[in-house]
Amino acid sequence: MYARGYTASNDGNISVRLGPDRLLMTPKSVCKGFMTPDMMCITDLEGRKLQGDRDPSSEMLMHLEVYRQRPDVQAVVHAHPPTATGFAVAGIPLDRAVLAEVLTTLGSIPIAEYATPSTKELPLAVRKYIKAYDGMLLANHGALTVGGDLYGAYYKMETIEHFAKISLVARLLGRENLLSREEVTRLQELRGAYGIKAPAPICEDTEEDATCQVVQAPPGAGSRLVPDSVSPKPSPRAEEIRLTYRELSALIEDAIRSLR
Ligand SMILES: [Zn+2]
Repeated sequence: MYARGYTASNDGNISVRLGPDRLLMTPKSVCKGFMTPDMMCITDLEGRKLQGDRDPSSEMLMHLEVYRQRPDVQAVVHAHPPTATGFAVAGIPLDRAVLAEVLTTLGSIPIAEYATPSTKELPLAVRKYIKAYDGMLLANHGALTVGGDLYGAYYKMETIEHFAKISLVARLLGRENLLSREEVTRLQELRGAYGIKAPAPICEDTEEDATCQVVQAPPGAGSRLVPDSVSPKPSPRAEEIRLTYRELSALIEDAIRSLR
């Protein structure tokens, strides 16, 4: 994570289940680029330290909440990858049906409401989405992914950051063609063939505590790609008049001359 720039300084934390009531967790206040195996902590599911010289991660409560809500999850990864975190800061979820691979592995990626890092607020914000999603952005903070094993959870973090970069480029280019709802349904059915377990089916709207995933995918009426309906947007500067510095100076000089 550190090598790929997903964390700076002591950011980010990782945990993995060792047994029914034992978690291996990264320690508090250690840069992930310089972490060594002897620094790791072992805790139980209540967060009590069982082994290790250092204290467990300051985001331990968020990890514990995930394990409580998702018995299938074996590992939790949290980082601040810059492009995905940019979307989290802008309040733009990665929930548009754009890339087939992302739809089959993660579905869509919502934003959990802002919560003060390391407090009890953060697990509460995560709880709303964790039953239905394997990855989410954390508003004005970073991203969280979970998986059936450690690398599974980490790879989802890579996928989110990669997807965020592609989405950013497409939006800079001015449009995103979307996969149709029918194509999204087809991709969902393909998951079984690839042995990918989705945490939840796709639905239209967010509920109180998400049990299904919201994906922006318009009906395609037979086509698999649907042109983006929201772009191109009219330029907000359509009413502006642009002048060079020389033209502006000439206008001002003209105006002064006519005043004399
Ligand atoms: Zn963080």
